[in-house]
Formats: sequence, C-alpha cells, structure tokens
Amino acid sequence: MANNNLLTRINVSPDSDFSIHNIPFGVYTDNEVDHHACSAIGEYIIDLFELESADMLNMNRSVFQEQYLNSFIELGKPETNRVRMKLIEILTDENSELNTNKDFFNKVFKKQSDVKMLMPVRIGDYTDFYSSIDHATNVGTMFRDPANALLPNWKHLPVGYHGRSSSICVSGHSFHRPKGQQKPADAEMPVFGASKLLDIELETAFIIGKKTEMGDHVTTEHAQDHIFGMVLFNDWSARDIQTWEYVPLGPFLAKNFASTMSPWIVTLEALAPFRVKGYDQIPKLLPYLEYTGEKNIDINLNVFLKPQNGKENLICSSNYKYMYYTMEQQLAHHTVNGCNINVGDLMASGTISGPEPHQFGSMLELTWKGTKPLKLSDGTERKFVNDNDTIIIKGFCEKEGKRIGFGECTATLLPAK
Ligand code: MN
Repeated sequence: MANNNLLTRINVSPDSDFSIHNIPFGVYTDNEVDHHACSAIGEYIIDLFELESADMLNMNRSVFQEQYLNSFIELGKPETNRVRMKLIEILTDENSELNTNKDFFNKVFKKQSDVKMLMPVRIGDYTDFYSSIDHATNVGTMFRDPANALLPNWKHLPVGYHGRSSSICVSGHSFHRPKGQQKPADAEMPVFGASKLLDIELETAFIIGKKTEMGDHVTTEHAQDHIFGMVLFNDWSARDIQTWEYVPLGPFLAKNFASTMSPWIVTLEALAPFRVKGYDQIPKLLPYLEYTGEKNIDINLNVFLKPQNGKENLICSSNYKYMYYTMEQQLAHHTVNGCNINVGDLMASGTISGPEPHQFGSMLELTWKGTKPLKLSDGTERKFVNDNDTIIIKGFCEKEGKRIGFGECTATLLPAK
C-alpha cells in the first residue's frame, strides 16, 4: 500500500531548507492572519494556531496568536521540543485528519510564497561578537600590523559590544545608506556625507531561550539550555564612519542604522547532528571558557549580491565552523560578570570568514580594502555595496542525506535620504 502521510503529499524537494529534520519556528502574516506562529515544511508554512484548533499539539493555542514567539519560547525547551517532535509525528502520520480534511489542510498549510514572514521575536538586548580568527586577523592586518594582527586580548576572550536592537529588521526590508562623519586619510578635518564604504558582515546569531537573574553565570556546559536557536544575520557596517569614530569605545553610528536577520529560528536541536570539533585554542583559556565535546557547527554560508534588475552573484562561501569561539563560550563570557540575559536577546557571531579569500565574510576583506574589486556577471565591479544592490545570505547544513537550512536573510540598500 502506498505511503500516504503528509510528507509524501507535500513532496519536499531534496534541496529544500525545510526538510522534516528542520521544523524551525517563525511568525507570518497574510490577508487573513495578522500574526500566527508557524513552522515550515518544504514550500509550505504550518500555521500552528490553526493546527491547534484541532487540539493536535495539546497546549493553550493563544501563545501562537501573539505577535512574537517570546511567550512560546518562554515555555521552555522541554515544551518547545515536545511541540517540534509532535509536528514531526503529525507530518509522518498516515492517519492524520489533515490528510483527509481538505479545508483543514488548506487552513494549516500555506505556500511560503503566499505569506509574509515577520520578525519572529521581540529582541531585548543585542550583542555582537568578533569571534572569527580569520576575520580578526584580516582586519588587524589591513588596519594595524600584519605581524601583530590580533590584539593581545583576542585569544583570551570573545571580544564583543552591545548594539542597537530596535534597528534589527527581518529579511525583505530596505534601508537608506547612512550618513555621518568620515575623515579621509589625506584630509586634516573630518567631512560629513553619505557613507562611501557601505559593507556587509556575514554572521549568524543565536536567540536566548531561558533567562537568568543578575549575578547568575551560565557555564559553557549549561549554555545550550539557554539558547533557543539560530538565525542568519547581516550586520551592515559603514567602514568610513567606523574608522573615524571607533577609538576608543568601539562601534557606534557605523553599525546602529540597520541589521538584517532571517525569519526562521532553527532550533539547536535541529542543528545538533551537524556539530563538529572546534579549534584547538592555544594559549589555554581561563577555566570558565573551557569546554568539552564538539561545539562548533558545520553550516555552509553563502552571500549573494544582486544589482537592481540584475542576477544574483555569489560573492562569498564561508562556514560557521570557522568560528574560533563557540556560542557556548560567548554566552559563558557574556554572563561571567553576572550580566543577566532574557528570552529574546540576540547574540550575533561577528563576521564569519574562513581561511581562503573566497570565504571572507565582508566586502572589506573580499576586495581587500577596495584594492581588488569584485567582478560581477553584468560586467560591473564592486568595492563595497552600491545603492539599490540587494544582499542575500543563505545557509544550510548537509550530512548523510539530511539537509536543513535557514531560508534567506535579504535586504536592499537604498540611496541616502
Ligand atoms: Mn558585526
């Protein structure tokens, strides 16, 4: 007898980001729905509020009707993992009501192309790290001393700063080229104007799923209990503004005008099969940063630049496994002073560059400060991002026939206002 479960009917393509092994969480809207929590399978979203109208997940469905996933995430990992496993069970059940009741199916499953994904969480605090050794080495080589590219603290702690959460937008937005002070190398005085060196930063970010109180410390061992899942992240950066303003307190107006995140939160549990060994960290770290086990993750990360009305050009292929510090170490460091964390806080990786030039995660590195422009398929060149260019980040894991992905993290740069 033919296998008649929903998965067969939905026919998930082998290169889909949203296989049965993923089951991420997000929030969508369309003409009928203001905002419902959803998951994804193949080309469809799964409306969790509608699914729960048939009591299939055994929970209070009002949590799926909120604007953000925060209340759902606050239920805790035992509950959110149970929902994820239940969804997998429903999708593979041959006797599901969804399979026989067409109206019910159409209320629950909607084509992703027919809905709009919304910001999935109300982000509290936003932290950005600087944890890729190749990125930090490249930047140190370009701006300081190639012989001492890494600053003395770099191999002892995951460097980070606090950013601005309210200008983080969900994929699909556009924003204006920022203006600000710059000081050209040959000028004596600073000038004001639109940034000429607008850059991308290929990053991922993790969403906090369990709060702590002030004074608490999250150890590397328990860090994953506090991490709900991951998204793709583009930490847009105005290099000319940054170079002039960052001494001595770090990034400010060069970073806070816009950041972009992907709409699907891929859970740590879905990512677990793709964990890999991390870097050998020498010199030895202080005990609170030590960890055991395979804590890096093999996530392929690709960046595309699409000129207005043009084609997507692949400009970078990196991987999350090139992170020197793991998320667990970043969180242990972030909280070691007793700093509290809250559900919905977002912590970004820092630019993720690999050792090879095509793996560099920013235009700054890809074009080596603009000295080696990128050639696009339409014959034009880029040193940095041009007005009306669209940047698309995609990410996926693949192993032994299992594939999961993040969807897209996309934004378009508009001319200065
Ligand atoms: Mn960054």
